[in-house]
This record gives sequence, C-alpha cells and structure tokens, in this order.
Amino acid sequence: MFLLGHSCWSYVFSKVTGRQVKVYIPAYMALLAGVLPDFDIYFKPLIQHHTYTHSLIILLPICAVLIVRFKGLGLAFSLGTLSHLVADSIVGTIPPLYPLSNFEFGISLGLPSPADTALEVGALGLVLVLAYLNGDYRLVTESQRGSLYLIIPMVSVVTLTLLFAGDNNVPLAAFAFSRKALTLITLGHAVLIGILCLGVVQGVRAAIVERKQPSQASSPFVS
Ligand SMILES: [Zn+2]
Repeated sequence: MFLLGHSCWSYVFSKVTGRQVKVYIPAYMALLAGVLPDFDIYFKPLIQHHTYTHSLIILLPICAVLIVRFKGLGLAFSLGTLSHLVADSIVGTIPPLYPLSNFEFGISLGLPSPADTALEVGALGLVLVLAYLNGDYRLVTESQRGSLYLIIPMVSVVTLTLLFAGDNNVPLAAFAFSRKALTLITLGHAVLIGILCLGVVQGVRAAIVERKQPSQASSPFVS
C-alpha cells in the first residue's frame, strides 16, 4: 500500500481506538503512526525495505512497551502502526517472523490494483468524515499553533513517496500517470498533502500572531 492509505488507515484506527479508551491522540500522531514502518526506506541500503519494520516479532514488543508506558495513547498509536502491517498483508505480503524466518504472510490482492485503490481512496474518505465529526478539521480551517505539527506527517509522506518512486527506478511522472488506479491514488496523495499543507500554513500564521502579541495569544492546545 502507498503512503496515502497507510497514513489514512492509521488515522482511522488510532482515532477510533482513542475514542474507545477515552484518550486524545493528536491528528499528526494518528497520521504518522502508520507511516513509521516505511521509514526503513530512509535507511536503505542499511536496512532492506519491508523486513525488520514489517515484522510482528519486532513491532509487537515495541507496541507492548508503548502501551505499558503511555497506556491508552500508546494503544491508539500502536494500533495505527500495526494497521500498516494489516494493509500491506491485504495488498501484498509481510514477513511476520523476520529475521527468524523469511516466511511471508498475506492475501496479495495486488499493488497497484483496483482493490488497493479502493482501500486507499476509501481511507481518505473515512478520514475526511472522521475529521469533520471529531473537530480535527479545525486544524485546517482555523489559525492555531497545534496545526504546525502536521508538517511531520506531511514531510514524511512526501519524502517517502518520492523515495519509493525513485527506488523502483520509475520516473515519478510516468509512475504517477501510468495507470488509472495509480492516477486516483496520486490524486488522493495530492488532496491529503494539500490539506496537511493548509494546516501547516494555519500553524505558521498562529505562530506569527503569537510572536507579535504574546500576551493575547491563545494556547495551541485549546481549540
Ligand atoms: Zn510497508
């Protein structure tokens, strides 16, 4: 799955879990959690893509530590991260026992494939609905400093997507417009990046206003 689906499914899983256990997980964390397993792309060739960071025997202990240390927030974040492995095992396979075994697990619906496109674009749609219902849309529509953190998932999604496209030796433009399915996914990425970019602009605006009149500025965590 591409970064669009990973960040969006992560947001859905983390936010729904956060709501169930009554903890607030910020939007930037919810979007970032599911992107983290693909951070191995940054460390290529030191770490091979789709190995250690896609292994259950490595991620599960890390998630356990996060849950013990951060309770509900750790759980919401962990489920966001684990949604990456679920998504990858639907469109492809993951090595759940790596490095002990190279055994691959998954139902391999294909990437790109109509199923993958539906999952990625559908996830974006769910994010838009959820963000409207839980009030996260204000990170984009209102000037508040907390929106600045959206730069973290934004930069991650952009750089990893570029590296991923480069990594497969496919020129980005040809890659983006090579198939109808991919074009929809490219459009989805553009929509997500555009929204995050708007949020970052709102954060910068709030920070500038706060600098000019520090005493009157509102707290970034109150919306
Ligand atoms: Zn992955």
